[in-house]
Amino acid sequence: MTYVYDFAEGNKDLKDLLGGKGANLAEMTNLGLPVPPGFTISTEACRAFLEAGDVPDGLSGEIDAHLHALEEAMGRRLGDPADPLLVSVRSGAKFSMPGMMETVLNVGLNDRSVLGLAEQSHDERFALDSYRRLLQMFGSTVLGIESEIFAKALDRLKKDRGTQADTDLGVDDLSGLIDTYKHAISEHAGRDFPQDPREQLDLAMRAVFESWNTERAVLYRRQERIEEGLGTAVNVQAMVFGNLGEDSGSGVAFTRDPASGNQGVYGDYLQNAQGEDVVAGIRNTVSLADMEKVDKRSHDELLEIMATLETHYHDMCDIEFTVERGRLWMLQTRVGKRTPAAAFRIGRHMTEEGLIDADEATRRVTGAQLAQLMFPSFDESAERTLVATGMNASPGAAVGKAVFDSDTAVEWAERGEDVILVRKETNPDDLRGMVAAKGILTSRGGKTSHAAVVARGMGRTCVCGAESLDVSVKKRRAKVRGGDAINEGDVISIDGTTGEVFLGSVPVVDSSVMRYFEGDESDEDIVLAVDGVMRHADDVRRLRVRANADTPEDARRARRFGAEGIGLCRTEHMFLGERRQLVENLIVAEDEDGQEAALSALLPLQRDDFVGILEAMDGLPVTIRLIDPPLHEFLPDYTDLSVKVALEDDHHDMDEHDQKLLEAVKRLHEQNPMLGLRGVRLGIVIPGLFKMQVRAILEATADRIEAGGDPHPEIMIPLVASVTELDLVRGQISGVAEAVERERGMKVPHKIGTMIELPRAAVTAHEIAKSAEFFSFGTNDLTQMTWGFSRDDVESSFFSHYLESGIFQVSPFESLDVDGVGRLVRHAAKLGRKANPDLHLGVCGEHGGDPASIHFFDEVGLDYVSCSPFRVPVARLEAGRSALGT
Ligand code: ADP
Ligand code: MG
Ligand code: MG
Repeated sequence: MTYVYDFAEGNKDLKDLLGGKGANLAEMTNLGLPVPPGFTISTEACRAFLEAGDVPDGLSGEIDAHLHALEEAMGRRLGDPADPLLVSVRSGAKFSMPGMMETVLNVGLNDRSVLGLAEQSHDERFALDSYRRLLQMFGSTVLGIESEIFAKALDRLKKDRGTQADTDLGVDDLSGLIDTYKHAISEHAGRDFPQDPREQLDLAMRAVFESWNTERAVLYRRQERIEEGLGTAVNVQAMVFGNLGEDSGSGVAFTRDPASGNQGVYGDYLQNAQGEDVVAGIRNTVSLADMEKVDKRSHDELLEIMATLETHYHDMCDIEFTVERGRLWMLQTRVGKRTPAAAFRIGRHMTEEGLIDADEATRRVTGAQLAQLMFPSFDESAERTLVATGMNASPGAAVGKAVFDSDTAVEWAERGEDVILVRKETNPDDLRGMVAAKGILTSRGGKTSHAAVVARGMGRTCVCGAESLDVSVKKRRAKVRGGDAINEGDVISIDGTTGEVFLGSVPVVDSSVMRYFEGDESDEDIVLAVDGVMRHADDVRRLRVRANADTPEDARRARRFGAEGIGLCRTEHMFLGERRQLVENLIVAEDEDGQEAALSALLPLQRDDFVGILEAMDGLPVTIRLIDPPLHEFLPDYTDLSVKVALEDDHHDMDEHDQKLLEAVKRLHEQNPMLGLRGVRLGIVIPGLFKMQVRAILEATADRIEAGGDPHPEIMIPLVASVTELDLVRGQISGVAEAVERERGMKVPHKIGTMIELPRAAVTAHEIAKSAEFFSFGTNDLTQMTWGFSRDDVESSFFSHYLESGIFQVSPFESLDVDGVGRLVRHAAKLGRKANPDLHLGVCGEHGGDPASIHFFDEVGLDYVSCSPFRVPVARLEAGRSALGT
């Protein structure tokens, strides 16, 4: 077993074994860049350690050997009293994550070697500064002492000396600080600071391994769906010193601007500084441009290296470097994180520069990033007062008056005010308030908290876990760090895309990417970048994308957004409003004549609905679902109506229609309407309704043909469980079709198919497929029916518990449950295609707009996904990325 690898032995593709940091240090080493030498203790060692609870056999010997080689190469021994080699101990997993042990620098210093270091560097101050840093870092990260204790002692000392800058502390100050720190360690860790350099190294390594299981790291992995078993690597690297005076320093840089994506380097440099000083805000940093004035040689070399890295990685890189007495050293690189806009723009620029091709530019952006660019956002140029930052739990930009309980939210919203519901955390009782609010802000909980799950489900903007807010429902205010407060009624603005919370009303700007999808021309770089990627995704994707649209207006928008038809046109809304009366008449009709009369009043209205939609989607398929919900949804509320009838009774003023209606409502009342008389069952029990709808569809089709159009209607039967149900309804449809064709004297093209949204339908798909021209997977209902819960009833009551306890990684309504529901989809698709090779397959649940689900649907070979018009661009992009193998 090999546990330890020299930097020269690795490369950037070995992240599983060496972690991201180690793999990239190896890559830079092999590129011939100036990297201080060192070695990586692999993730395998970590896994073995965590399994056995102790250092695995052989590891110690391997470390000895690598340490010895390092000492030879550097001409110094670790912690040698006369001339010590010092090392850093750096954690580094495959993915960087919070909660992992922070880097310990200057390992190898002790009471004796600090003197040697002073002598060798001719700089006593530097040596003492390095030692106090080691005590501080080792004490807090390895020995687990609260870092505040060290920070406070340093602050006190600076205050006593009347200075803000650590560089103003002299030799005596630092000696004193070292004593203070050593005492603090003895007091709080129950042991003295280990003077043995090798013991320091071993303890630091163990602490890195153990940090894999800190609460924060575990939580983060669960949230980001990172495998538990990966483990972290440990990098041991010879120290270079940026704190050796003004000709030394430490810096961070990006090879392009990670915020905008603009070409040109971007970074900060701090003279006489070590490690993270440069990003800690302790002193003012200088830009890379100014670094040129300070140290031109190092600056020029750095720029050259950055160019090398970009060409080598073919991507924007994020780097850390240190200058030791005019000599540049590279300490880290990785492909840099970037904003969504930067991701698209960098892709475009790099394609133009010939660094990557269009395939790669498309792989590198995600549907989620595209979706973020489509939301309106807060005006960056407006004055804004940031008061807190939390998790970006559900995107969007919301402005409203702060309210602290649901009753107030509902009350104020009803009188027309925009409100933001502010809570410590939400629970099912807050649902009404969440519905009424423009946005939700909580001070506790992460992306799987109740607030986050429910807000995403409703598409409401949400920032959660803004921990610096101290929310008091009783006092109706949230205290903000620094003493300010948000009181009830104060206007605040929350950004669900970044997690930021602002005081006052920040102006909202609409998105140029959204305007582009709506059809506006623009030569803005971001629009051109999005356009390029969309065109390429459309070129390469196999999976078609349709939209769920119920009105001509939605259909037109969907078409502008690139939809290639309608995958789900619901018809129930067509029975609401003034038409509800006609449905009531149908339900209370006593005989066939009465029913007939009600239906023929509905027919022309329905036909017009369909003409409009078929026209908007001329030339493209339109899947129309026959009426699906239980009939009681079209009738008055049982209690309301009972009261009305009872009052009429009291006043001896009986209304006959009301009385019949009440009987019908009683008759149709169901305990579990979702499992009741709905879907195809309605078509069988009240055939007139389905027949009327089918006639309206076919007459509308004939009308469109006569008007010179090219309609492609597809009639879809919901909630089929058995092929016999489908056959019965098919028979009715054929009868109507024959009649319409006879009457109109033409062929009226149409397809007949079914939804697959019940487990029984999925497992008998081979039978159903013989009677269907297409299947459309209704993955919302299929999820409900497979798990046996109704979304409305359970999402707000226990999903956050399920997420937090790891039963779900993500809500099965947000992203398809591939292992369960997905298996049914895969199985049904296979059975269906085998029985009927011409069967066309699609998805019309909301999952059709979810990136991970889209990749799954592509993999199982469906023909199309259908999603809300606004998600169509996301689906097009993800279908393209899926075809490119991402
Ligand atoms: P993180 O994972 O938090 O970025 P790093 O391991 O990169 O932690 O280390 C923290 C800081 O210490 C960085 O600024 C890094 O450049 C610096 N550093 C790490 N190793 C060395 C070293 N051998 N010599 C000098 N500085 C180092
Ligand atoms: Mg780093
Ligand atoms: Mg359904």
